[in-house]
Amino acid sequence: MQYINGLWVEQGTHLFTSLNPATGKEIWKSHAAGEAEVHSAIETARAAFPEWSQKTYEERYQYVDTFKQRVDAAKEELALLIAQETGKALWDARSEAAAVVSKLGFSDEAYKERTGRKSRMAAGANAVVTHRPHGVMAVYGPYNFPAHLPNGHITPALLAGNTVVLKPSEQTPMVAEWMVKQWIAAGLPAGVLNLVQGERDTGIALAKAQIDGLLFTGSCATGKALHAQFAGRPEVMLALEMGGNNPLVVGDITNIQAAVLETLLSAFTGTGQRCTCARRLVVIEGKNSQAYLDLLVASARKLVIGAYDEEPSPFMGPLISVREAQRMLDAQAALETMGGKPLLRMVSLREGLPFVSPAIIDMTGVDDVPDTEYFGPMLQLYRVKNAAEAVAKANATRFGLSASVLCDNPAEYQQLASQIRAGLINWNKQTTGASGAGPFGGIGVSGNHRPAGYYSADYCAYPVASVESEKLALPEQLPVGLTIG
Ligand code: NAD
Repeated sequence: MQYINGLWVEQGTHLFTSLNPATGKEIWKSHAAGEAEVHSAIETARAAFPEWSQKTYEERYQYVDTFKQRVDAAKEELALLIAQETGKALWDARSEAAAVVSKLGFSDEAYKERTGRKSRMAAGANAVVTHRPHGVMAVYGPYNFPAHLPNGHITPALLAGNTVVLKPSEQTPMVAEWMVKQWIAAGLPAGVLNLVQGERDTGIALAKAQIDGLLFTGSCATGKALHAQFAGRPEVMLALEMGGNNPLVVGDITNIQAAVLETLLSAFTGTGQRCTCARRLVVIEGKNSQAYLDLLVASARKLVIGAYDEEPSPFMGPLISVREAQRMLDAQAALETMGGKPLLRMVSLREGLPFVSPAIIDMTGVDDVPDTEYFGPMLQLYRVKNAAEAVAKANATRFGLSASVLCDNPAEYQQLASQIRAGLINWNKQTTGASGAGPFGGIGVSGNHRPAGYYSADYCAYPVASVESEKLALPEQLPVGLTIG
């Protein structure tokens, strides 16, 4: 169903469904929005913009705060929906629900710090900087964080005074619908937030509509297509958060168990379906590196995989779909054909369902490995001799989202981290761990220099610089060569 101008609308071009990936059973079914519904959502958002943007920040914040309280009170319900629709393990779904709640506090802080009002007296006048909303923002969500990531654009956009049309992933419409219901219950005025469900065609229709900003989280392929589509339209704010081919560099370590834990969390959290997951493990040969690798393979082999409601509780759930599982198995086969040696081979675990085991493939010495994001639990290993080779391998990518360095020596960390190109670089912490208090985004083809997270406030408002004087008065001295009268 679409939510347009304060009403649920059961209209669209065709029906589509959402499946629980762990069972293959249908859990949601409704219409995909076509051009007519998208047009009507945009018109509604535009009509609601003047009144919403003219409210004070405190008035808008009240709605956001009520939404936050509602989600906080129902976060277990939200976690269950996320687990059902994405297949995430419950611990992982709970952490997403908690992130939705904590984002709201960070958005308030970020709005005030990064886009608040600033003034200073200069040359007898007040130099003032204020911020204004862009207008109608189209928000696109990915399936791997169906609540947290669209919310990461929506909340700062609304706080800044924009109105929004949300187009969630076609693989997670149920969670999106639940989130919109919480905004409605928080009393958000009609037209301020609208929802259009559907697949790629709905996304295309929305990007063609009369929008003032497009806030996107998704794959590099889609992000690049949107970037090309908006070429020559500088008036539209385009914020692109895309994927990565992220390196995890392991230097000199003594605590092998802790290094293995951080590696497993980096590569296999969310069944490898996080944009920040480590894809390439770069190990600098040292006295502990073989022991570390042996323990890594042994521990990865023992990861508990299953549905969120099964016992024992799983670390990893299924992939999002049978198609994605097949894509991962095909990618593994291609890497093997190129010369990769599986230390742990991914296999399909349940007939007709997208459960797969994790893979670790030694690609050392294999040339021309595709620089692509394999969005699943597959880690490529590269053994290197020294820090210089590690940096070269880590940077051998067009992407630049996240990276981690595991090592004991601060000087080694500084040497590596200062040369690795990525928007998120961690030390002795998983690549998948990011703080809500920091910006979140990457360089290269991972984004377009509009990081989200704490910095999402920046792309939700534009600055207005003013020089202000309460009195219209002549200066003591007129400019040279100028007389009045
Ligand atoms: P996707 O690109 O397939 O889809 C994202 C959204 O774009 C969906 O709503 C989809 O319907 C829509 N879409 C698809 N093609 C379109 C087109 N041509 N025009 C307009 N809209 C279109 O992404 P996904 O598979 O849902 O998500 C996984 C990807 O997201 C991974 O690549 C992952 O790395 C990335 N991701 C990035 C971040 C980040 O913050 N950098 C976070 C999470 C996920």
